[in-house]
Amino acid sequence: MTPEPADLAILSAVYTVDARRPWAEGVAVRDGRILAVGTADEIDGLTGPGTRKVDLRGRMVVPGFQDAHVHPPHAGLERLRCDLNDAGGPEEYARLIREYVAAHPDESWVLGGGWALDHFPGGTPHRTVLDALAPDRPAFLTNRDGHGAWVNSRALQMAGIRRDTPDPPDGRIERDVDGEPAGMLHEGAMDLVERLIPPVSADQMQRALLIAQDHLHSLGITAWQDAIVEADTLAAYRALAGDGRLTARVVAALWWERDRGQEQVEDLIQRRASVTEDRLRATSVKIMQDGIVENFTAGMLQPYLDGSGGPGERRGLSFVEPETLNQCVTRLDAEGFQVHFHAIGDRAVREALDAVEAARKVNGPNDHRHHVAHLQVVHPDDIPRFSTLGVVANCQPYWACLDAQMRELNVESLGPERVGHQYPFASFKGAGARLAFGSDWSVSTANPLHEIAVAMTRVPFDEPDVEPLVPGERLDLDACLEAFTLGSAFVNHLDDVTGSITPGKLADLAVLDSNPFAKDAEPIGGARVVLTMVNGQAVYADPKVSW
Ligand SMILES: [Zn+2]
Repeated sequence: MTPEPADLAILSAVYTVDARRPWAEGVAVRDGRILAVGTADEIDGLTGPGTRKVDLRGRMVVPGFQDAHVHPPHAGLERLRCDLNDAGGPEEYARLIREYVAAHPDESWVLGGGWALDHFPGGTPHRTVLDALAPDRPAFLTNRDGHGAWVNSRALQMAGIRRDTPDPPDGRIERDVDGEPAGMLHEGAMDLVERLIPPVSADQMQRALLIAQDHLHSLGITAWQDAIVEADTLAAYRALAGDGRLTARVVAALWWERDRGQEQVEDLIQRRASVTEDRLRATSVKIMQDGIVENFTAGMLQPYLDGSGGPGERRGLSFVEPETLNQCVTRLDAEGFQVHFHAIGDRAVREALDAVEAARKVNGPNDHRHHVAHLQVVHPDDIPRFSTLGVVANCQPYWACLDAQMRELNVESLGPERVGHQYPFASFKGAGARLAFGSDWSVSTANPLHEIAVAMTRVPFDEPDVEPLVPGERLDLDACLEAFTLGSAFVNHLDDVTGSITPGKLADLAVLDSNPFAKDAEPIGGARVVLTMVNGQAVYADPKVSW
């Protein structure tokens, strides 16, 4: 009896991320699932008169990429607002802001962001610069990593921030040499102004998400974990999932409000239960445990070094007090949530691991797949704990290099020993930890191929001559592709149906224009995605590809 023929047959180098059969010459798809992986002849044998045959030889099919930590609503909104992400420095920022203000006379606020810390001395632009560009209304522009905002005098006035206003416990109001608020708000201090901003309309939020989804699909991404989902963004996701416009598979990490305690768990349970749409789950909770090194808010075991190279006063923040963190994580774990931690400093990483350990002691082992994102400075003693505790290392590989921001704002305050403890990807792998990759877009590029290039070289993508950061922590191409597909699928609890090209799994695939494993091939950073499929349906196709 001949089996029912395939709907789609692709001939191409197929890199499966399935150890049982790493390579094939083609893949056949039926009803949105992978029917077979095999030689060109085997795939040919599964075709019939109705089969669509696509010849992509010379290219490479991989499982669709999954981004384990990304902010599509924020990134999409930035694209709709004053978008500074692609600007190269203060002059360009000024031009873009001036143009935006002129083009949007009716908007009551100037909102947007994407400026880079390393374009301003000390990472802190001044309010007077923004006053000149946007004199008539409040302006609030987040920096590229979202941990600070540049505001003008009008915004400071509206928020009542003056010379004598104390810093909030979870943030800092930057002061200038005269002691006046400089116009830069770090971490929790952003909220003093942010809470005055009118809410985003449901329609605008949905548009933002669709813009973001298009961009991610164009880079071969078929699923992601949204690292901050609040009520308005969950509503937008649900609306898009409800009518079929959400083509990606999404796990929402619900935002843990650090000024509330365990009483919010009931709300989170309700929010999780409210999601019944296909392709969307709200099964993760995001706890932000510290800030970032650049503004000394990353939680460190030892103090930051001061200007003289000796230990200073600052050790960064623990947004959730460790004992409280242990209790909250134990409770979330008992309620069946996955916890998605943000931890940058070595103390924050340890506190996150301690909290999972506390939960394990009370609740025993389970399959919630808690994960720690960012992992910039990791104390060597903590590396083996990831596999012992079953915690996934959710790495943002694009940062693992001595880029300008690292050189100017991190190296001196960390000192050489801790600079060497940064982004220990190979050490994680060597210690048996599971790796997942994510971009943190729009903090950094969402392009997995560029991120992988940095993980392989430890050199900034656009500065090839810079010395590598801890070159012993480089990963090979196989390990990187696995982290960005099966590894992130594991975090998303989607590895049973996606993450590798395996018969029976869903046909979520990406096609690269070249095969970076081929002899004499260009490195992967020079490759491009030309086709992205979810359930065997194209969600992105380069117009130049015959599809
Ligand atoms: Zn993030």
